[in-house]
Amino acid sequence: MSEVETFEHDVLVIGAGGAGLRAAIEASAGGVSVGLVCKSLLGKAHTVMAEGGIAAALGNVDERDNWRVHFADTMRGGQYVNNWRMAELHAREAPERVRELEAWGALFDRTPDGRILQRNFGGHRYPRLAHVGDRTGLEMIRTLQDHGIHQGIDVHMECTVLALLKDEGRVVGAFAYERARGRFRLFKAKAVVLATGGIGRAYKITSNSWEYTGDGHALAYHAGADLADMEFIQFHPTGMIWPPSVQGILVTEGVRGEGGVLRNKEGHRFMFDEIPEAYRKQTADNEEEGWRYTQGDRNARRPPELLTRDHVARCIVREIKEGRGSPHGGVFLDISWIKQRLPNAAERIKKKLPSMYHQFKQLADIDITAEPMEVGPTTHYVMGGVSVDADTQMSTVPGLFAAGECAAGINGANRLGGNSLSDLLVFGKRAGEFAARFAKDNAPGRIDTRQTEEAARRALAPFEPRAANGGEGPYSIQEELQDMMQDLVGIVRKEEEMRRALQGIRALAERATRVRVTGNREYNPGWHTALDLDNLLVVAEMVARSALERKESRGAQFREDYPDKDESFGRVNLVVRKSAEGELQLSRRPIPEMPEELKKIIQEMA
Ligand SMILES: Cc1cc2nc3c(=O)[nH]c(=O)nc-3n(C[C@H](O)[C@H](O)[C@H](O)COP(=O)(O)OP(=O)(O)OC[C@H]3O[C@@H](n4cnc5c(N)ncnc54)[C@H](O)[C@@H]3O)c2cc1C
Repeated sequence: MSEVETFEHDVLVIGAGGAGLRAAIEASAGGVSVGLVCKSLLGKAHTVMAEGGIAAALGNVDERDNWRVHFADTMRGGQYVNNWRMAELHAREAPERVRELEAWGALFDRTPDGRILQRNFGGHRYPRLAHVGDRTGLEMIRTLQDHGIHQGIDVHMECTVLALLKDEGRVVGAFAYERARGRFRLFKAKAVVLATGGIGRAYKITSNSWEYTGDGHALAYHAGADLADMEFIQFHPTGMIWPPSVQGILVTEGVRGEGGVLRNKEGHRFMFDEIPEAYRKQTADNEEEGWRYTQGDRNARRPPELLTRDHVARCIVREIKEGRGSPHGGVFLDISWIKQRLPNAAERIKKKLPSMYHQFKQLADIDITAEPMEVGPTTHYVMGGVSVDADTQMSTVPGLFAAGECAAGINGANRLGGNSLSDLLVFGKRAGEFAARFAKDNAPGRIDTRQTEEAARRALAPFEPRAANGGEGPYSIQEELQDMMQDLVGIVRKEEEMRRALQGIRALAERATRVRVTGNREYNPGWHTALDLDNLLVVAEMVARSALERKESRGAQFREDYPDKDESFGRVNLVVRKSAEGELQLSRRPIPEMPEELKKIIQEMA
């Protein structure tokens, strides 16, 4: 096998977004040596793109808020298939994690009396999102990095993990390649934390960057871990749709939180047309009340634009399908209308939504202070992922932990905006803490060279000369997969289409075994794409199989052929794992009974 450089850490964290950085900080504080690996440069992880804010019941803007309300909102948003213990821990601990971030130097927007300012967001009963304009992720990453680099963490940038290594059932390291030079690296570790983010690149239209190819999901799967809820993919209702080169780029929910409204081509505010029963009591029934809510009137109810993302996305799709869409196939999102209500509206929009202002001005030549935006749904977030113990974040494979978007549980069938950034802080910390404990309690494992040799052989296979049919490049397969997932396993799903998708995925997987790349191993994007492709294909199969199995509509999963909820599915999570024969196995796992104390909270908040 070609040359391999070896590194040894007590805890190896894979991923340098909010979850990975927070885990690395905590593990390091636990007194163990920590390595942090990331595909791109430090500071470039997805988290940096986060806009609207971090959800935490600080109660700074409305003192009626507390962890109980946040817990109930999260469970209702997730349609009660969440891991209730994770939802509880998240709601209880998020305020402390945000205050800690502030103590480490994060500069949040302020209330007039100097406390952290909080804004309204979909599905949150009270203003709850701590934010920095619409650039919250940047501040979060900057703060965690500044804090983290003083903890003695070893950072391995532009390094992609290809396989997890096991010894007698326990994870004991990882095998990776350097993107720049193409050389292999072997990481020995007593515990590994996966914090690899999402899978958005399995779809054609997405807000996710090139890094989000479901690597952590695939690594965990091949290592034998359970994954849960993979059918629940969040399509954010508002992505840019025009010009085509920027399709999918996110338009933060903060626009609607600040008073932005959705209209169809007839100028009709269609979100008032359909309000789900579970939210009727909490939702404004007239425009005036909705406006007052966005301006902080505590007696007003939220406008229907701030209903959960799954619902808003489906209403937009309905308008488009029924011929009431905007010229480029979306709907209109208008914040400029607030000038009818506020004297200094343009300045306010620029101050509150600076990135949105620049994004539309520079990419679409639209001045959002003067005219509406055109928006449509974009693949944004995966609720499903590695199944973990709520308290420790350990997966079903000893020594393997997961946190952040690549882990499952807290969000159930649908994530509320802002709950990801707080999830990263709460569960990143927990994963780091318990991985460090695990590392202290366990001796290093044995590295089996057969596993590293096999990983290297697979990685280099695309360079091999191919037989008669010659093989094909990875890009066409990737594109076909993205088109297929978008069309057949998208926002609105039905059995026949998903069966076609599954057949298609298998055919693409077969073609992928013959993928061929040219050039050498030094920074070779074709090769990198070929390696990512295997992960995308595995993840796509998990999504399609789980979505087929869940014969009901719940949260982000909308089945045209099963448009209603089915109570029996409300009692289970769908779990996928790799069988001994290497096949994807799907099972239903009953959700444990919720303690009376938590049930009571949900009833009280209904
Ligand atoms: C535009 C946008 C705006 C958003 N706004 C908000 C918001 O306001 N509030 C909110 O709560 N959520 C928001 N989200 C969602 C939120 O940002 C993400 O869910 C979250 O940042 C994910 O963080 P993470 O730490 O799990 O992973 P990421 O930040 O995605 O980081 C993943 C890390 O893993 C690394 N990695 C991946 N694969 C490998 C591999 N094979 N080997 C080595 N390293 C690997 C990557 O290089 C990266 O460092 C937004 C998302 C987007 C796209």
